[in-house]
Amino acid sequence: MNVREALVKARVFFADAGLENASLDAEVLLMHLLGIERAGLYMRFDYVLTLEEAKAYRCLIERRVKGEPVAYLTGHKEFMGMDFIVNPAVLVPRPETEILVERALKFLEGKPGEELLVLDIGTGSGAIAVSMARMNSRLRVYAVDCSRDALVLAQHNAAIHGVAGRIHFFHGDLLYPLSNLALEGKADLIAANLPYVPSGDISGLPVDVRSYEPQIALNGGLDGLDIYRRLLPGAGDLLKSGGLLMLEIGPGQADVLVQEMTGMGMVWCCSEIVFDYAGRERVVLAEKE
Ligand code: GLN
Repeated sequence: MNVREALVKARVFFADAGLENASLDAEVLLMHLLGIERAGLYMRFDYVLTLEEAKAYRCLIERRVKGEPVAYLTGHKEFMGMDFIVNPAVLVPRPETEILVERALKFLEGKPGEELLVLDIGTGSGAIAVSMARMNSRLRVYAVDCSRDALVLAQHNAAIHGVAGRIHFFHGDLLYPLSNLALEGKADLIAANLPYVPSGDISGLPVDVRSYEPQIALNGGLDGLDIYRRLLPGAGDLLKSGGLLMLEIGPGQADVLVQEMTGMGMVWCCSEIVFDYAGRERVVLAEKE
């Protein structure tokens, strides 16, 4: 079986199983297996796979058909044009989250000062913290997660991208591990992509997400906003005046969240809802007065 035949087989298998990105998945898994880039794959269409390679490819295909995310099978995911290492301890970075990072970078660009302080709460793989630190050398980032396994991975990603010296990792619940650092009024930006899927909606998620990604990174309680509710009061305290809070959310959550923030008596001077490319509300921004 050569590369061309292997790809055709995998594609058909994936398409029959109802996978959306049959061609892409077939190519990415084979590229990973052979340790080559896309151009290399196209140049080697006639290369005959060894028996071991064919067997290993078959095994990857079977795992994918059962629903295992491609990113866990390859151990990598691209985010903001950078390669991140991922594993089942963390949510696979989503393209939608790039919207949050882009807006955050734009906001920080216009801020004066030699050093800007960013908090990334629920850092997971470190995608937000690492990509932001990489793209703006003035940033110092405090990144928090309640999973030690996630932090190990995030640290790894920070090292790979050369920003380990500017990201400090903390283990614990939300802002709690930062409470002894006297950060009140010091943060220029707080970003959070915390679990926001309503508990009742988890069973309706695609099998890749529902059966393979960490529930702890998805389940946001009854209406999905439980964890953000716990974050809000402290986030208001740690932000500077003019600092920005950015929360990734799902469809139908923005209005509720903004209303509750307004009702909490905190001094948010303006808020905005940012939509993703599919036209769904995706990020809530709130600036502290
Ligand atoms: N966007 C994720 C999904 O695909 C949810 C991420 C989160 O809860 N933070 O369901």
